[in-house]
Amino acid sequence: MFEQRLVLFATLPLFACSPANQENLQTSNAVAVNESGETAVQDEAAGLPSYNPENIPGMARIKNKSYVLKSALWNTLNIPVCWENSSNIDDRSRVKDAVTASWQANSKVKFFGWGNCAPNAQGIRISVADTGPHTKGLGTQIDGIQNGMVLNFTFKNWSQPCTESEEIRRSCVKSIAVHEFGHALGFAHEQNRPDTPGECTKKPQGTSGDLMLTPWDPSSVMNYCNPVYNNDGKLSKSDVDTMKEIYP
Ligand SMILES: [Zn+2]
Repeated sequence: MFEQRLVLFATLPLFACSPANQENLQTSNAVAVNESGETAVQDEAAGLPSYNPENIPGMARIKNKSYVLKSALWNTLNIPVCWENSSNIDDRSRVKDAVTASWQANSKVKFFGWGNCAPNAQGIRISVADTGPHTKGLGTQIDGIQNGMVLNFTFKNWSQPCTESEEIRRSCVKSIAVHEFGHALGFAHEQNRPDTPGECTKKPQGTSGDLMLTPWDPSSVMNYCNPVYNNDGKLSKSDVDTMKEIYP
């Protein structure tokens, strides 16, 4: 059992959210920047094996396909969500509201629950920590996985530009939640796609999908090359079109 767990752990990729920076953080105020770039993405994997799809048997052959991981789509439209640890009711509400107003409002998917996680809780299990936000897989790969999604509410260690003001911090909480819930619904990073244009130089991160339903989308909430950080938590037209296609 222990060995099996180790193997599973070693093959679980992380799906990170890129940190905010001066260029892409949407705000009317100047932001003091501590641009940590991709370093923070690496940092968040501290303690975990670094993820390289080419080192994982079977992964290399699909690494050049992307967007949505079809096999990880939920076969239900009602997806339970719970919190592992945070008692910050206001930020918990912000996350719920942002996800409800984006993915849920534009599809038939309904996220329900949103209370504290029971020991054997199924669905999306969110923990809050001051580290790089991420999910431990795409779609149903995190169903019932403890700490399957990690969100950040404080940003003292990771993505300090988010602490410039309370308004900006709240904006980071919301837009990151929308991005990570995209992963939880089965969306891979947009820049992982094989048709990513040369001007997007962000490296692929996490497992790629295997289904492309819309043209490459610079405005996607899942695209590190979007000049607007996580598209300010607003789904692009292609995000919505894809959502309607995969959860009809
Ligand atoms: Zn991500």
